[in-house]
Amino acid sequence: MESNSDLVYEGKLIHETSYSRRSDKYQEVEINGIKIDYYDPKNKVVHEIKKSDKHEEAHEWQVKYYLYVLEQNGLTGVTGLLEYPRLHKIQEVTLSDYDRETIRSSMTEIESIINNEQCPNKLPKSRCKNCSYFDFCWSHEIEL
Ligand code: SF4
Repeated sequence: MESNSDLVYEGKLIHETSYSRRSDKYQEVEINGIKIDYYDPKNKVVHEIKKSDKHEEAHEWQVKYYLYVLEQNGLTGVTGLLEYPRLHKIQEVTLSDYDRETIRSSMTEIESIINNEQCPNKLPKSRCKNCSYFDFCWSHEIEL
């Protein structure tokens, strides 16, 4: 779904315009279903750039998950930086034992949802506007 998302496209444009002169320093890393656009191997830092003009807890968990997957693949001691060009803010993200446990338990829950024959209930539409699955969930609705 994300490959067709206007929001993801807009985010990519921000990546390209914000980091156009920094490409040599960073590597793209694709591993176990994640794709990190800007990894700094020298300093072991994941950079995640957000187009949003507000910080969201989900942004932090996205980076924590990247750190978790890297760790599972033998790359330890990596930290993250969440960057908000529109806010001119940068936030450090690290992975704690509590985070590792939360991620493991979320993965178990996700597996259970995937293996369930029934889709989970939709969230209230007001909470869906930034979701990549919006069209999938709501396209059947006829605008009046
Ligand atoms: S649009 Fe996204 S957040 Fe809303 S119900 Fe569907 S999957 Fe959940």
